[in-house]
Amino acid sequence: MRYAIFGDIHANLEALEAVLEDSKKRECTHYICMGDIVGYNADPKACLDMIRELGCPTVKGNHDDYVSSGASLDGFNILAKEALLWTRSQIDKDDKTWLKELELVKQERDFTLVHATLDTPHRWGYVFNQLDAAASFAYQNTALCFCGHTHVPKAFINDRGNVQTVTLDSVTLAMGKKYFINVGSVGQPRDGDWRAAYAIYDADRNLVELHRLEYDIKKAQKKIIDNGLPLKLAQRLSIGK
Ligand code: ZN
Repeated sequence: MRYAIFGDIHANLEALEAVLEDSKKRECTHYICMGDIVGYNADPKACLDMIRELGCPTVKGNHDDYVSSGASLDGFNILAKEALLWTRSQIDKDDKTWLKELELVKQERDFTLVHATLDTPHRWGYVFNQLDAAASFAYQNTALCFCGHTHVPKAFINDRGNVQTVTLDSVTLAMGKKYFINVGSVGQPRDGDWRAAYAIYDADRNLVELHRLEYDIKKAQKKIIDNGLPLKLAQRLSIGK
């Protein structure tokens, strides 16, 4: 089984198309969506339709939550807030219900999926370092868990209580260790690399690999501007921040 695992799409259709096309070429047999399908970029409806069509296991992200719940957007920065308000006007009631019903944590075969953290998934905390990861590991009942949210691909490895961080190029899973793996962001990477990120988990080879893909960024940026979304949201795509 080869899983394509991707999230933080954030309504970037061009990036999502590139990821799905590449994962097909690389003979992925299953798809997993780590949440935050909407927010920031200009194609929330098309991205939602594409994920629903895949029918793949999907967990809820904070943007999915706020767009569908009608909750106050006070905790968000001004750019995110503007995009979320716009997104609410672009999707219909059924879309919102679908997003609202997504689960925060899911187990798929022998691994776990969560958008943010396992210790308090509904609070949308960030796992940036070993300390954050240790808190999440305390609630991780499977050897392997995938996450997103920071938009920075990274693997945290727990070797009997000792937590290490490694860059996620290619990680071979070893028996007796636990892994909390952030697959990066499809539609708004923040690690200084503008290319779309996703991971492939080859369950037969116990291997997780990160892939980066160029996509039609100019087209995605033009749509952001044409829809009257903040210019900064278009600019940040080019620098991967
Ligand atoms: Zn996100």
